[in-house]
Amino acid sequence: MKDTQALKDFLQTPKKIIITTHANPDADALGSSLGLHHFLIRLGHEVNTIVPSSYPDFLEWMPGNPLVINYEKSKEAAEKLILEADLLFCLDFSGFGRIKEMREIAEKASAKIALVDHHLNPEIKPDFNFWNDHSAATAELIYDLIVDFSGKEAIDKGIAECLYAGIMTDTGSFKHPSTTSKIHRMVAELIDLGADVNKVSRLIYDTNSLQRLRFLGHALAEKLKVDENARIAYFVIEEDDFKDFRLKQGDTEGLVNYALSIKGIVVAAIIIQGENEIKLSFRSIGDFAVNKFAEEYFNGGGHKNASGGISKLTLKETEKKFIELIEKDILKTRIK
Ligand code: 5GP
Ligand code: MN
Repeated sequence: MKDTQALKDFLQTPKKIIITTHANPDADALGSSLGLHHFLIRLGHEVNTIVPSSYPDFLEWMPGNPLVINYEKSKEAAEKLILEADLLFCLDFSGFGRIKEMREIAEKASAKIALVDHHLNPEIKPDFNFWNDHSAATAELIYDLIVDFSGKEAIDKGIAECLYAGIMTDTGSFKHPSTTSKIHRMVAELIDLGADVNKVSRLIYDTNSLQRLRFLGHALAEKLKVDENARIAYFVIEEDDFKDFRLKQGDTEGLVNYALSIKGIVVAAIIIQGENEIKLSFRSIGDFAVNKFAEEYFNGGGHKNASGGISKLTLKETEKKFIELIEKDILKTRIK
């Protein structure tokens, strides 16, 4: 879906634009938001990027980071901007549930909505649609949008690095099945446009604290559970682990992939105890659709091989629910 011409017509005159993305933004969410932000500023619009909640500090290097408004910290100012906006860009999510407390004000706003996203089953009905579930990353869709609007020359080094960060992380560093030849060509262009891929990769992946590595060792040794029969591996991380290892937001990111890397494992999960709810992340290899599983049982969603959801039960109850349901569903899939 690409409403390029309609959006171009709408943006003929300067507009007040808000860009937002899902809660707990990742590199694709923030990179595509800031990449688009810089582009729209250059077109002469008034642009603000508002995130529903904070993001890990390994994303703070992105150009434009100081401009990002955190809704949790500046509710009043953010709500005023949203209500005054002509256009609300929804990036890397397609259901208002994913912007948490910002949902109410976003639904109340009179702004037109542009949706740029690659998740399955979109709920938002946009005025301008740039949704495509075959895209590897929202950053890929933003790249296409900018090129369709103004040609690739409109992408400077800063935008190129924001978009590269989104593509690199959402493809699992060019390993996921979403890594097409188009993605590699796009990345080649981004390098020609100035992206320092070694710098971006180091800033995102090689900024571990010693505590984080110690925690990784602890999690692998003590927290990893394996059901070889069902071919499931998962971690359960308690609030105390966060305290013991002085973990920060984002420190558990990527851990689930260690579970999926075990030979023979087809579904991996991480269950993380939070202050108010439990966050679950699911990964799979092959046919088992973890987005359906997350949607059906944990109020979540995502992609076929990478999804997430939440639970309001206790940690023990959540683990029990997860393991019983996943074993049942995996068995069902195999019987078919
Ligand atoms: P992660 O496990 O890295 O947080 O998320 C993996 C994928 O699942 C991402 O595409 C993300 O957008 C999606 N996802 C994660 N948590 C949720 C959730 O609570 N609800 C929905 N609908 N999708 C989620
Ligand atoms: Mn994404």
